[in-house]
Amino acid sequence: MVDLKGQYAGIKDEVNLSIQEVIENTAFINGPKVHEFQNNLEQYLGVKHVIPCANGTDALQIAMMGLGLKPGDEVITADFTFAATVEVIALLNLVPVLVDVNEDDFNINIEALEKAITHKTKAIVPVHLFGQCANMEAIMEVAKKHNLFVIEDNAQAIGANYTYKNGTKVKAGTIGNVGATSFFPSKNLGCYGDGGAIFTNDDDLAHTIRGIVNHGMYERYHHDVVGVNSRLDSIQAAVLDAKLPNLDSYNKARQTAAIKYSKAFEGIESIITPKTVSNSCSNICDTCDCHVFHQYTLRLKGVNRDALAKHLNENEIPCGIYYPIPLHKQKAYADERYNEADFPVTNQLVKEVISLPMHTELDDEQIEFITSTIIKFING
Ligand SMILES: *Cc1c(COP(=O)(O)O)cnc(C)c1O
Repeated sequence: MVDLKGQYAGIKDEVNLSIQEVIENTAFINGPKVHEFQNNLEQYLGVKHVIPCANGTDALQIAMMGLGLKPGDEVITADFTFAATVEVIALLNLVPVLVDVNEDDFNINIEALEKAITHKTKAIVPVHLFGQCANMEAIMEVAKKHNLFVIEDNAQAIGANYTYKNGTKVKAGTIGNVGATSFFPSKNLGCYGDGGAIFTNDDDLAHTIRGIVNHGMYERYHHDVVGVNSRLDSIQAAVLDAKLPNLDSYNKARQTAAIKYSKAFEGIESIITPKTVSNSCSNICDTCDCHVFHQYTLRLKGVNRDALAKHLNENEIPCGIYYPIPLHKQKAYADERYNEADFPVTNQLVKEVISLPMHTELDDEQIEFITSTIIKFING
């Protein structure tokens, strides 16, 4: 699904040098590389504060701790996402409230979101799934109206732009009260191990969070709140700092591959290719950056998905099913509050979706082989 070896070959010298610096100065924990990367990412995102941490799941959890959410508070998120989003809500004894998504962008549905709000609702966690922002303008309006926090799960959309109706562009993850991301190796900006970060423009929240990631300490050995130990280690920061200057070109390479995939599938009625639903464009194009294609996900209509996946594997083409089960049907998160009739889209998507290889090193020959193998299978 990804080609980290191929990507490394293109940045070997920068990455090796950056790691070497950490080893030579032995500042393995909270070393200068962590601060350099933090500053560079703040600049790139146009956000006041980046707080690095150990992984994306921690980033979400710490963001929720920082906002002072209390046991019993309801937190609304999408039914169609990776489990980490809902897991941290449950771990903090908050009440996860899962809602349906849209067919066209796989992101949280605004009507379903509004319908799920109660007097106990305290926060919304939009997930920018597969590389495209949820409808943040509408989400922020709903949040303002009901006085709710917004925590963006930006693990899959780092570098994507969100365009407001008035044309203003901002980076994904910097719109809500707080954003959380992951630097897991296969993410759009990945390190060589685990890593994550929290973003915010709120000075007080940033201060609170900096203490939480460091055992609740604001002054050495004074523990004012219950915190955690969640650090981005210096070697991972060194890798990320070397890769950050390439993030835009990496995302562009993903977009170019997506355009080629979609072009090859044009006119095939049983395949629905991914759509871009931003205010600035209605289709995948190479002039904007509103979709950074963490995944390139097709919807199949009347095609035997398991048979296609098997056929692809036999041809040594990897593929993935993200996600095969809606969260509201997972044992850990199922709840009698949920009514099947409220999840028509997720229940449908889990049966239809299939994700194709998507990374920065896909070449024309690979794309041609993948698409022709799929088309031949479908045409029988
Ligand atoms: C990857 C991912 C996470 C978790 O990130 P980790 O670094 O693996 O903990 C959270 N949410 C979404 C949507 C993700 O894709």
